[in-house]
Formats: sequence, structure tokens, C-alpha cells
Amino acid sequence: MRVLRTVEDAELLADQARGKPLTAVVIGAGFVGLETAENLAQRGIETTVVEAADQVLTPLDPELAVLVAAELVAHGVAIETGVGVAAVTDAGVVLADGRAIPGDLVVAAIGVRPDARLAEMAGLALGPHGGIAVDDDGRTSAADVYAVGDAVEKADSVGGGSSLIALANIANRQGRRVADAICGRTVRPAPSQGTAIVKVFGVTAAMTGWNERRLRAAKRHYRVIHSHPMSHASYYPGAEPMSLKLLFDPADGVILGAQAVGGSGVDKRIDVLATAMAAGLRAEALADLELAYAPPISSAKDPVNMLGYMAENLMSGECDVVEAHELEGLMAQGWTLLDVRTQDEYLRGAIPGSVNAPLDTLREHLATLGCGPYVVYCEVGQRGHTATMLLHELGLPARNLDGGYRTWRAADAAAAGDPRRLHRPAVAA
Ligand SMILES: Cc1cc2nc3c(=O)[nH]c(=O)nc-3n(C[C@H](O)[C@H](O)[C@H](O)COP(=O)(O)OP(=O)(O)OC[C@H]3O[C@@H](n4cnc5c(N)ncnc54)[C@H](O)[C@@H]3O)c2cc1C
Repeated sequence: MRVLRTVEDAELLADQARGKPLTAVVIGAGFVGLETAENLAQRGIETTVVEAADQVLTPLDPELAVLVAAELVAHGVAIETGVGVAAVTDAGVVLADGRAIPGDLVVAAIGVRPDARLAEMAGLALGPHGGIAVDDDGRTSAADVYAVGDAVEKADSVGGGSSLIALANIANRQGRRVADAICGRTVRPAPSQGTAIVKVFGVTAAMTGWNERRLRAAKRHYRVIHSHPMSHASYYPGAEPMSLKLLFDPADGVILGAQAVGGSGVDKRIDVLATAMAAGLRAEALADLELAYAPPISSAKDPVNMLGYMAENLMSGECDVVEAHELEGLMAQGWTLLDVRTQDEYLRGAIPGSVNAPLDTLREHLATLGCGPYVVYCEVGQRGHTATMLLHELGLPARNLDGGYRTWRAADAAAAGDPRRLHRPAVAA
């Protein structure tokens, strides 16, 4: 079994991969595990990723992570989630449920723990997560001893308190800040957001701040919005789709986190959102950011501006949204699910229990539909917003399905633990 930490580890692994193993198992579907799986698969090795959590890339929420899983599956990588490895054998691994997965090569990429042994032996104080405790200047509990990097607990920008984040940007920033502190310069507090990015085959996945799972566990009040913009003006060749998610406090608009998965332009959007978050910009202020535009690069309304418009609509109460997981409960209470896409789109696949009433002819359908309440959806949420506003103008209660059919389908595939469902129509409507 191999591990991957140093450049030497990578070289040894590459040597072994050149020895023509036919099969490989990568244990752990974090950043390093997925990058390893991608490289092994690209060498023609039949690769399986085993992950004890229910999804790949746990810093992402499930409906974004499933897009990465689908990319892996599309490139022939097998994924086993929700099951741990019980034993590594000469033939591969044995899973906790008893199944054997063949692996001429087994790589463990099962996460990072702070190596704080030296600090512990020296009697330095450790933090609640087992990392070295430091103040804003990087000072440990011992006079004139400073610490930086993965082994150090960082001030957390969302929750306060400390968290362990193992990323190179943070380690480097801390190095400079400690040097400044030692030289007597004033050091501004710089809490960590955990901004990270990874490329897996043709998709890029990036995130900053907290995800929904973490906010829920901390009982933090939040709302989310999903969008599915193109990387640049769609009439200009080469635009690639992406999925964005913004998490914010609906009371004051504080940005709590963001996630992005897609093709080109994902890095730029997450970096703008991470910068906005660090600067304390509110979600609705994203609408007013003056971002560079030319058709091959972006859109006149950049995807980040669009998130600002959507946050504004939600915070003002003008157009409330429903999340995919709330749908079933609302329909059980008698809400009508209206699909306002065209009939062609509807016939290609729709949410079970929905009624097709295309936006262009919505008024004509209302006579037979009753007076709601309605959950409205379209492909990505934009026509759904227009339809919701139209229904409001007619005095009918309506909410838009956040992220539309595309987010619902991703949430459905994630809940089923089957990324292949993303590419299958939900029902023959
Ligand atoms: C495979 C891999 C890929 C990664 N990719 C990314 C990425 O794409 N983006 C990103 O942001 N982060 C990435 N990281 C994480 C990033 O490498 C770390 O966050 C960063 O290196 C942390 O810096 P550090 O100085 O704390 O630790 P390290 O870089 O690990 O440096 C610590 C050094 O201290 C030495 N050392 C340890 N104990 C002692 C001792 N007792 N005496 C003397 N020396 C000692 C070690 O040998 C080591 O050289 C990756 C990590 C791995 C393993």
C-alpha cells in the first residue's frame, strides 16, 4: 500500500504505475484521492475510489459533489461511497460490507492530521482539534516560539473559534505574518475561510467558507441559492456550464460560503466570492460588483452578479425559493408543482407529480389549474422566477424552485447515491 504526501511519494507511485498494474484502489475521495484516481485512470489503470462518507469531496454539499462523481464515472473510475475499507490484502482491499475490490496498487489518501508531536513533547498548548494553539500573531503558549502551517489551529472566519485547515495558501500567509510579528510589525487578524480548488478530469470544483452540512450542525441561520450559468456569453463559442451555490445569512446578508463545479471560469468565480466574503461584502452587494466583461470571457451580468440579484430577491421577500428537499413535504400539503418549461423539455424528463404549463402560455393554463399555492420550476430557475412573479401579480401564492430542474436532478442523484441518474430523465412525463 502507498501513501501520497511528498514529491518522493509521487515519484514512487508513478514508478509503480509504470510497472503496468491493471487495477488500483484509492482509499479516500478527498482532493488528493481524486487527483490520484484521475492520474491512475489516465494511465489506463482500472481504478476504484473507496470513500467511507456518503459522497466524494465532503467540503462540497451533496448536490455539487455528485457532479464531480459523475465526471469520475464518465471517465471509467468506479466509486464506492458510504463504505469503509476493512482490510488491505495482497489482492486489493476488502470493504466493511465484505466485498473484495481488486487492486494491484492501493493508495491511501485518507486525510490530514496535524503532526503536533514535537509541540506536544515541548509542552506547548494544543487546541480543541489537536493542532498547535497560537494567537493572531502565530505565537504559541511558550515565549518566543511561533508556529505556522497545517499543524496549527486557525481562527475560523465563519464560526469564530478555531479549525484545522490544511492548505498551502494559508501556510504561506502565516509564514509571512509570523515573520512580521517577530520583526515588530503590526499583524492584522486574517481568519481562514478554507478556499480550495481541485481539477478532476474536465471539471473544476472549488469552495470557500462553510458548507450547508456544517452550518446545519452549528444551528446557524442560513439560506442558499443555486445557479447554473455559462462561463461566458452563450452566443460566443466555447462557453462551458457551471453550477454555483451561495450560502448566506438572510437576516443581514453575511456570506457564509460558496461552492462551484464546472468548466472554465469556476476558479474566477470562487476567487471573487472568497474575496467578497473576506471583505465583508453582503450577498446582495454582489449584484453591484463591477466585473470585467467581454463575450469570450464573461457575461455582461457575470454569474457572481446574478447571485447578488437572486440573494436580493430572496432577502427582500420579493421571490421566495423552495429547496429540492422541501418539495415532497409541500406537495403533500397540497402545493401544485408547475413545470413552466416548454412541452418538449417536459417530455424529455420532469419532476414526478409536476404539471406542465409553459411560461409563454401560463395565463391560459391557470383557468384549469386552480389558485395554488404553487411551486414553480424551469430548467435552472430563471423562467421559474418570471412565472412566480407573474403568479404573484395575479394574487396567487407561489415560490420558485431554487436552481430549477437541474439542481433537483443533482439532489435526486445525490440522495440515491447514483451519479448516473444525473443523465437519465427523472420520469417519462
Ligand atoms: C499530495 C498533496 C497535494 C496537495 N495539494 C495542495 C494543493 O493543490 N493546494 C493546497 O492549497 N494545498 C495542497 N496540499 C497541502 C499543502 O501541501 C500543505 O497545506 C502545506 O504544505 C502545509 O505547509 P506546512 O509548512 O505546514 O507543512 P509541510 O509542507 O508538510 O512542511 C513541513 C516540513 O517540516 C518538516 N518537519 C517535520 N517535522 C520536523 C522536525 N521534527 N524537524 C525538522 N523538520 C521537520 C517536514 O519534513 C516538512 O518538510 C497538498 C498536500 C499533499 C500531501
